[in-house]
Parts: sequence; C-alpha cells; structure tokens
Amino acid sequence: MQSYKIAAIPADGIGPEVIAAGLQALEALERREGTFKLDITHFDWGSDYYRRNGAMMPADGIERLKAFDAIFFGAVGAPDVPDHVTLWGLRLPICQGFDQYANVRPTKILPGIVSPLAGVKPGDLDWVIVRENSEGEYSGHGGRAHRGLPEEVGTEVAIFTRVGVTRIMRYAFKLAQSRPRKFLTVVTKSNAQRHGMVMWDEIAAEVAREFPDVTWDKMLVDAMTVRMTLKPQSLDTIVATNLHADILSDLAGALAGSLGVAPTGNIDPERRFPSMFEPIHGSAFDITGKGIANPVATFWTAAQMLEHLGQPNAAKRLMHAVETVTGSGVTTPDVGGTATTRQVTDAVCEAIRGSN
Ligand code: ATP
Ligand code: MG
Repeated sequence: MQSYKIAAIPADGIGPEVIAAGLQALEALERREGTFKLDITHFDWGSDYYRRNGAMMPADGIERLKAFDAIFFGAVGAPDVPDHVTLWGLRLPICQGFDQYANVRPTKILPGIVSPLAGVKPGDLDWVIVRENSEGEYSGHGGRAHRGLPEEVGTEVAIFTRVGVTRIMRYAFKLAQSRPRKFLTVVTKSNAQRHGMVMWDEIAAEVAREFPDVTWDKMLVDAMTVRMTLKPQSLDTIVATNLHADILSDLAGALAGSLGVAPTGNIDPERRFPSMFEPIHGSAFDITGKGIANPVATFWTAAQMLEHLGQPNAAKRLMHAVETVTGSGVTTPDVGGTATTRQVTDAVCEAIRGSN
C-alpha cells in the first residue's frame, strides 16, 4: 500500500475548521479506497504561534517540512498581526523555499451553486488558471527615492526570466494537453509593456512548437476580463503572470459563485520538494468559530493534492462526492444554503462511503 507523509498547517481564523473538515473527508476516502495511507503530522504554526514566539514558524520550519510529500494548508492572517508578518512569515517562505513556481487554480461552477452571470450553467465555465508563482510583478524589486518630498519616486520592478517564463509556459501547455479540449490561452499586456511581456509572448510561441496537438491563443489582460465574463465557454486552460493571474483568479472565483469554493495548489512540478495545497480564501475572522465556513474549497484542494500524489481515482471520488452534496442543496450560507460546516462535511463523507 502506498503511504504519504502530509504536513497539516491549519494556521489562522477558519483555517483550523476547514482543515479539520478536509482531513475528515480524506480519512473517509482512505478507508473507501483501501489503496493508500496518509500519515498526517500537525503543525501549530501561525498567528497564535507568533504571539507566543515572535515568529510565525520556527527558524528550521522549512527544513522540517522537506521530509513531507505534501503540505495541506489552511489560511493565514489575524486582525492584530500585520499582513506582511503573516504572509512573509509562513506562506511565502514555503512557496519560495520549495520553488513552487506553478500556482494552479481550477474553477468551475459546481452543481447547486449559482453563478452571478445570468444564464451560465455548470459546464459552461470550466477553467484552470495557471499563475506564475515565483517572479514577475511580485519580485519585490524596486524602491522609493526622495521619500515624502514633492519629487518622490516609487518603482515596482517586474522581473521575468527566460528560465522562469519557459518553465511556467511548459507546465501550462502540458496541463492543457491533459485536458479534453487541449486549449490554452496565454495572457499578457504586451501592447503597453514592451519588454518582459513581449518576451513572454515570444517564449509562448517557442514552447507551443513542443505541443503541436495543443491549440492556443493570446489575450491582453484587459480584454481577457471581458471574455471571461461574456464568453466563459470559450476558455479552458489559462496561463498568466503573477499579478495578472492574481486578479483574474479572483474574478474567476466570483464568477463561479464564492471564494468558499475556490482551491489552489502551489506546485513544484519537478517534485524536488513538497507542494502545498490550500483554499484560496483567507482567515475570514468575521465567521471564525461560527461553524459555517464553507469546506468545499478545502475538499477540492484535497482532491488536487491526491491527484498530485498519484491517486487520481481517490481525487475523482472526492470531487464526485462534493458535487453530489452541493447538487442536493446541502451548502453553507455563503453560497445561499443553510447547512453548517459539519453538515456539509458529514454529507460528503457519507457520499464517499456510499459511492461505488
Ligand atoms: P485574509 O485577510 O486572511 O484574506 P479575510 O478576512 O480578508 O482574510 P477572506 O478569506 O479573504 O477573508 O474572505 C473574504 C470574505 O469572504 C470573508 O470575510 C468571509 O465572509 C467570506 N469567506 C471567505 N472564505 C469563506 C468560506 N470558506 N466560507 C464562507 N465564507 C467565506
Ligand atoms: Mg482577504
């Protein structure tokens, strides 16, 4: 039997509630499949840890995570701890430390969940957004001169490297190739930004030659928001820079019904290090402790994790159970239902047990 070592980091706000739900579903799957075993280690890192120790995780945190096959992550952020401390103290060091350069964000309208787009049904919107997760606009380069003076200048430098763009492009083409439509849309802003973005277009064309069976097209990011809204059926796999994909995936999440159903994988495609799987939403302190956090994003990212670990059947069974439950109307208030986190989780576990 295949065994996987999983690091669970629930962290802040609703993180512990949705990670507990996710682990319950994973345990039900493990029993139902009988082909793999998950060896879970819990880490109490996050804002509470910060209040006690002055850091979000121990100094050797990254080193300790190296031994795991995957990281199952909740959310970071707390009202009394500055955002740059929470983000740069835990989540980003993991993404950077393990060179998780592909941020993969599947989006579709699940049964029973209504898109704000009139007339759009499940099946009309079924995308995977691939976000470059290691460079680009979030490189951190830049600075400020003449601070506070009338002539003050602030620069924010986007850095694109041939290695960085080629590897994300190759990942996106390969992913598009694995999906039934074999169709990729490459997003840039190469009309207005004439250096890195033009290089991005050129490298897309080069990598495309390695994938003759994949059809692809190019979009400027502004026009892309219109296409996503007015012609969602015309898209499938999408690749964009760190900033552009950050914005487009929020739009995608909203079009699919709620932040509470949007998952993401931070992936090291070369598998040198563990990849990290998490719901897109943050700590959501407004609903923390109320028992109504939507666990669907966490179930979905658990399915991404199983797929990555080499258990595609378990991943399919989990998503099938989730779709059965949302389709039967058992959903949390953020998507218009009246169920609690526990009720949705129990229903998903029941659907896993009853599936054939
Ligand atoms: P952070 O600062 O960590 O991003 P946040 O308080 O901004 O946290 P988000 O998670 O970004 O909260 O989500 C914004 C709002 O969406 C939340 O305040 C919450 O009401 C809602 N929301 C987010 N995730 C969920 C979920 N899983 N279930 C239900 N509602 C959610
Ligand atoms: Mg937020």
